[in-house]
Amino acid sequence: VTFQSLGVCEELVEACNRLKYVKPTAIQRESLVYTLKQRDIIALAETGSGKTLAFALPVIQNLLDAPQPFYALVLSPTRELCMQIAEHFEALGVGISLKTTVIVGGLDPMAQAIALSKKPHIIIGTPGRILYHMQNTKGFNFKALKFLVLDEADKLLNMDFEKDINQILDIIPKKRNTFLFSATMTNKVHKLQRASLKDPVKIEV
Ligand code: AMP
Repeated sequence: VTFQSLGVCEELVEACNRLKYVKPTAIQRESLVYTLKQRDIIALAETGSGKTLAFALPVIQNLLDAPQPFYALVLSPTRELCMQIAEHFEALGVGISLKTTVIVGGLDPMAQAIALSKKPHIIIGTPGRILYHMQNTKGFNFKALKFLVLDEADKLLNMDFEKDINQILDIIPKKRNTFLFSATMTNKVHKLQRASLKDPVKIEV
């Protein structure tokens, strides 16, 4: 199995090769056939499984067809994780003028509002601060949002982001693709699955 045979486009296969991602990991192998075809997924996968690439590739591949600002929102529990995700998107996006921004708590909201005014394609952040900007920053609108990624959902929920996530789900378009990743399946994750996913494929690696 190769990225190509899973349906990854030529440009992104080249980007993967350049980054020395030659062979898809298990989570990538199991999920890409669905995520590239706009299916929702819930995936039980740990950090280190290659889950970031598993969600970044379908988001970017779809974005390439019709790039729009505020195309995808990735929610992750910590600043550190958000930065790592942004690095993945940026590395894959070299040469296709992909604009990514990280919006996390603890950093200057004014600087974040300025970053958002530049209309990035991919917004990666922690739920509390993302919600703050949705409610307070003019021009930050999610009408064109096509993809929502809930990364490390069990951790997001353990960190008390449940209310913020539910409010975000009320604001963003219902017609979208959602990928939920979690290391463990808990009652709260199950509840979030029901609130956010449509007819998801379940993937366990
Ligand atoms: P993640 O689980 O997304 O945090 O990824 C863990 C690490 O695996 C990251 O450092 C990635 O750069 C790396 N990685 C992801 N996919 C592949 C792949 N197909 N081949 C080799 N390394 C990979």
